[in-house]
Amino acid sequence: MIVVLNRSAAPGDVDAVADRVAALGMTAHVINGTERTVVAATGSEDEANRETLASMRGVESVMPILAPYKVASLEMKAEPTAVTVGSLTVGGGVCGVIAGPCSVESEEQIMESARAVKAAGATALRGGAFKPRTSPYAFQGMKEEGLKLLAAAREETGLAVVTEVMTPTDVELVADYADVLQIGARNMQNYRLLEACGESPAAVMLKRGMASTMDEFLLAAEYVLSRGNERVMLCERGVRTFESHTRFTLPLATVPYLHARTHLPIVIDPSHGTGVASLVPPMMHAAIACLADGLMVEVHPDPPNAASDGPQSLTPEAFAEAMTTCGKVAEAVGLKMG
Ligand code: PEP
Ligand code: MN
Repeated sequence: MIVVLNRSAAPGDVDAVADRVAALGMTAHVINGTERTVVAATGSEDEANRETLASMRGVESVMPILAPYKVASLEMKAEPTAVTVGSLTVGGGVCGVIAGPCSVESEEQIMESARAVKAAGATALRGGAFKPRTSPYAFQGMKEEGLKLLAAAREETGLAVVTEVMTPTDVELVADYADVLQIGARNMQNYRLLEACGESPAAVMLKRGMASTMDEFLLAAEYVLSRGNERVMLCERGVRTFESHTRFTLPLATVPYLHARTHLPIVIDPSHGTGVASLVPPMMHAAIACLADGLMVEVHPDPPNAASDGPQSLTPEAFAEAMTTCGKVAEAVGLKMG
């Protein structure tokens, strides 16, 4: 880390910082500039050490050199991680497509959705059984009944199942039925849930919190990884901004940004990212063009009558058409679909 001293720091302050750096088990390199002095401390990037040094007299700031996340970082593992669960592969040059309704609503609805998305080329089925709804009066999901219907849809179609888990105590139950545990945007910093998913044998898809920074996102992934679960995918689903023409604002730059910092695969969710069905296909194509490792798309057989997120859900026909263009874009950029 780099300790920057302020202009009025006395020589004694510099010496004290250098001594403290050594006492903390690091090596101090004092660099006297014309404007000010900095002390480069090599060794441990421990957060507690950083705070100790930041509170010393004459110190203006302390900047870490290494990323605060470790297991998620490229410094730890340079080659991209591909997560494979049954029919779904995400990463390593393969773009997986997770599609299905926002919520599981009935046997007929989930079966029809599963067949349609599979026919169009999706490699996994999504569908919420436990739904995090803004209003306590809105449909909360079919819970275990919904999980059973998802498992039945996997049985028939062979599609891996991705579904949300909202509390640590439900992790085992959801993992009994699902292949991938989805941690929702509202729970990205629910640390006990992250730890519980980190101890599960199921793979994890972590969605970005709607007001979270990239470092917070990667540190949340680090919670899961640090508990031993290596099968983690990140999902950009849009953030809150002042803009109101879309439900959220979808930053596709997240894909190349994260690819330069982590080996974990990045999935784009253009459904929540825009909230508007007509905007979803172009964002699917753009996500592939910037080398996203996966897509997560809401598809419903009857969007106007969906129990949740109808306005952003594609019909099976619109999804199939969008997937045809996905294949062409993928070929142009050297990605393999599915
Ligand atoms: C969802 O995938 O249906 C969902 C609730 O997503 P998010 O957590 O991104 O809002
Ligand atoms: Mn939804």
